[in-house]
Amino acid sequence: MFKGFTRFLQSPGERLKSLFGTDSAAAGLSEPRIIPRQEHPVSRQHFSDAALKVLYRLHNAGFEAYLVGGCIRDALIGKMPKDFDVATNATPEEIKELFRNSRIIGRRFRIVHVRFGREVIEVTTFRGKPGDDHGDHIAQQSDQGLLLRDNVWGSIQEDAIRRDFTINALYYSIADFSIHDFANGVRDIESRILRLIGDPATRYREDPVRMLRAVRFAGKLDFHLDPATEAPIRELAPLLLQIPPARLFDEILKLFMAGHGVETFRLLRDYGLFEMLFPEAAEAMDELSWAEPLVEAALASTDRRIAEERPVTPAFLFAALLWGPVQLRQAEQEANGLPPIPALQAASQQVVSRQLKHISIPKRFSLPMRDIWDLQQRLPLRRGRRVYQTREHPRFRAAYDLLLLREAAGELNPGLGDWWTAFQQADEHEQRRLLDKVGANPAGSGAPRKRRRRRRKPRSGNGNGNA
Ligand code: ATP
Ligand code: MG
Repeated sequence: MFKGFTRFLQSPGERLKSLFGTDSAAAGLSEPRIIPRQEHPVSRQHFSDAALKVLYRLHNAGFEAYLVGGCIRDALIGKMPKDFDVATNATPEEIKELFRNSRIIGRRFRIVHVRFGREVIEVTTFRGKPGDDHGDHIAQQSDQGLLLRDNVWGSIQEDAIRRDFTINALYYSIADFSIHDFANGVRDIESRILRLIGDPATRYREDPVRMLRAVRFAGKLDFHLDPATEAPIRELAPLLLQIPPARLFDEILKLFMAGHGVETFRLLRDYGLFEMLFPEAAEAMDELSWAEPLVEAALASTDRRIAEERPVTPAFLFAALLWGPVQLRQAEQEANGLPPIPALQAASQQVVSRQLKHISIPKRFSLPMRDIWDLQQRLPLRRGRRVYQTREHPRFRAAYDLLLLREAAGELNPGLGDWWTAFQQADEHEQRRLLDKVGANPAGSGAPRKRRRRRRKPRSGNGNGNA
């Protein structure tokens, strides 16, 4: 994709100007490969005006300023970056002074958000080794090696090796438009390899979310995990249980709502990560033949919509992800004697509250998700005014979409979905005819007859449990 990358210029013993004068050679850090502007394809046209403004203002104030991470990686791969991260030797306070439209956020990582309208540029100060304590900026680590706080400032070299993957440790300098490659990230981009910097198990223990990031980038970029980077994941997957649910929610959105959900989901399943995020959904996938196909179908439809630049909502995706567990719990409640409607409500309640222990789902998504579930019980009821009330419900469209996926996944006999498709397209006269058809045969054609079946052998095909 980009030529001339094989000729790298070694940095001519560039003296490091770090905030604290850390001696990089003594710390065992290598000099970067500096790729001059004419030897790489990344230009200022890849970057937003806001990102460039931040870089120039830092630069003009005498600080070092680089674009780093995903934006450089994506630009090198030939994708247009969508958000921008800046790294600098200015401290958060110094950054804040330069930008009135800025805010210091985070505790674990103190970073500065600089806002331009709807765009936010994330600016971070170069981080040092957690062991180096420069006075008031202290890193903390738990007994298991998890990094609790990480606000030790350092040199750009130190900053680079604290980043997760080699391909994310590329820095674009606004001073001369060169790219500084600290961990052979360009080589790994060329061979499409995701490789953690440093010892993989240690890096995953420091921050287990890196396992999710590995899978996310593999899915999104279609890269392979380097064998050493891949090896510890299955064993260390349970470390994800330590991560705060709010952080995982953000990660889940990036995993499933970035246009490569199906591929990412398969990787999460393969590496045993999915069950750490959605334990009840994973359990339902073992017990109900349709549960996994349903989730894949929901992700495929989300991916398609994103490719077409149509809107997507996490409420729909979560509704599909957790529909399996809801059905298992509803069956339990009904076995205890509850009628279907209260049984579904009790089941929804249970599933949501257990899921929230792992991943926080904001109310603005969990409430519509529950509406989508409730509507699954109303869609088969097509008599009198009800049908129009259902049709007018603000979540009707999402509920209808879920119904179609349930039929496609083999949970339900087909029929009801087609009826609703026809009803939506029909004029008044035709709608009345469709309603009469239901009236003549209320439990007949199109009425779902669902039956659950335990899967005897794992992955024994897509048998739909209908007799
Ligand atoms: P994208 O924005 O496309 O999701 P990204 O690589 O830019 O990908 P961000 O979450 O925006 O991801 O992070 C920006 C950069 O910060 C990364 O490229 C990486 O260098 C560093 N980084 C982010 N998260 C971690 C982490 N958990 N551990 C180490 N470094 C990280
Ligand atoms: Mg980013």
